[in-house]
Amino acid sequence: MSNPNVLDHLNNPSPRTLGRSPLEWLERLQKPTVVHVAGCDRSRTRAMATLLHGNEPSGLFALHRWLQEQHTPEVNMLFLLGGVYPAKIPPAFSFRQLPEGLDLNRCFKEPFQSEEGAIAEAMLAELHKAQPECLLDVHNTSGTGPAFAVTITNDAEHQALTSLYTDRLITTDLRLGALMEYSEQEVPTVTIECGGAQDDQAHHLAYEGLVRYTSRADVLSLEKAEWDVAVLRNPIRVELAPEATIEYRLEPSGQADLTFPPDIEHRNFGIVSPDEPLGWVGKKGLSILTAISHNRTGNLEQVLRVRGGQIYPAQAIKAFMITTNPVIAKSDCLFYAVKATGEPIF
Ligand SMILES: [Zn+2]
Repeated sequence: MSNPNVLDHLNNPSPRTLGRSPLEWLERLQKPTVVHVAGCDRSRTRAMATLLHGNEPSGLFALHRWLQEQHTPEVNMLFLLGGVYPAKIPPAFSFRQLPEGLDLNRCFKEPFQSEEGAIAEAMLAELHKAQPECLLDVHNTSGTGPAFAVTITNDAEHQALTSLYTDRLITTDLRLGALMEYSEQEVPTVTIECGGAQDDQAHHLAYEGLVRYTSRADVLSLEKAEWDVAVLRNPIRVELAPEATIEYRLEPSGQADLTFPPDIEHRNFGIVSPDEPLGWVGKKGLSILTAISHNRTGNLEQVLRVRGGQIYPAQAIKAFMITTNPVIAKSDCLFYAVKATGEPIF
């Protein structure tokens, strides 16, 4: 049994309890919080999680505005605000997770032993109780870039949910203990990456998508979709060895194992051909990098090669979630990639 004291609950909160800004609302939140809003059709529920990462505020901004505006959703809504503790550390919305804590979005799996595990378990218990017809998990990317969705399943329902926000869907067989794995409970579940945490466009998209998600009678049929969805299947993750060093500079300083240009984020979702250099390696060459797919290491030579100290794609690739944050690059991954066609590299 999950601990009922882990989460706070708000039922149909009135605007004056929300503070005048998302920041004021965050100050009032004391714990990870569940917000229940009654819909026109009380027999159905949709769920949306957000702020699983404390430095990804678009979903909370959107929810604050939406609650202020007092919409009546088509069906009951269950909102789950996960990373309230890291978000509250000053300056607000700057910590992904607590300094000594775990990434909450890697804790949606047994054993639920850590503090974050207890939050994840309590959130799953709320979902189990509410039996939503679908679940969204709204994030920001660490770098800037266009919005995209991530799922573990590619079918019409997941594409329809994706189309509420974006026309790019990444599907993965990788299991990391992320909330989107709730899809395995037969509840269509989509992670939405709205774009950069500092981008007004991302905040705007999070709001527009929330309005679409809450105001439509049917969000699961593809005939009603806004636009066609391009599917990128099973991207590989390119990871940097923990002891390796990375710099973002126009020219390598000679000190780092890997150097990327500061504008590398502009490569997000563009096709990079084998004659376009991505960056530079140091003396250790490509040995500091690994390419991982479905939890197994693949052949990096199918992804990258080195010529004259510069890194080139080994074939035309589409790369994304490229970050210029060295902490993310080291703790999570450097980037994801598929073939230019959207098919898996291996
Ligand atoms: Zn996130």
